[in-house]
Amino acid sequence: MQLVSNIKYPTKRLVEIANFVSPLARRMPKKYTLEFSNVWFDINGEGERVYDESIPWDGRAYSYPLNNAIVFIRDEVQEELCPMIWWPNEKLPGHYVRGTYLKTFEEFLVYTAAHELRHLEQWHNPRMKLLGSDLEGSDIETDADMYAIGKLFEWRRYKGYLK
Ligand SMILES: [Zn+2]
Repeated sequence: MQLVSNIKYPTKRLVEIANFVSPLARRMPKKYTLEFSNVWFDINGEGERVYDESIPWDGRAYSYPLNNAIVFIRDEVQEELCPMIWWPNEKLPGHYVRGTYLKTFEEFLVYTAAHELRHLEQWHNPRMKLLGSDLEGSDIETDADMYAIGKLFEWRRYKGYLK
C-alpha cells in the first residue's frame, strides 16, 4: 500500500497511524493508497478529481479508478477541529453506535483513517464478516465505524492514554 500526504503533519506519524489501524496496510497490493489531502475532492465518472475547497474535513474511500482511502483536512482547521463528538451511523434503529469523542487531531486521523481503510478491506475481502451484522439496519458504514471505534481505543491504550 502507498501513503500519500500533502497535509502539515509528520509523514512518519502518518505511517505509524496507517500501520496501526489497518492490519492489511503492509500486505495490501501497491494499487491501494491511503491519502491525506489538504483539500476535499470527489472522483467523477471519468476518474478525474473535482475539487471543493469549501469543505473543511471529511473522509472518503473509492474503489474506482484505484482503491483509494482519503482523509481530507484543511491545514487551517487542524488546530480547532478537536475536541469533537463524531456521530456514527445515525440511521441505525436505536442508534446503537453512540457518539465518539475525538479528543485530539491525532485521534481524528486515527479514527478517520481506520474507517476509510476498513472500506478498502471490505472490498478486498468481500466475504469478510462485518461487525454489527447482527444488528437491524447495519451496513458497511456501521462495520467501518465499529472498527474505527475499536482501533481508537486500542490506540489510546498503545499510547498509554488509557491504563
Ligand atoms: Zn464510510
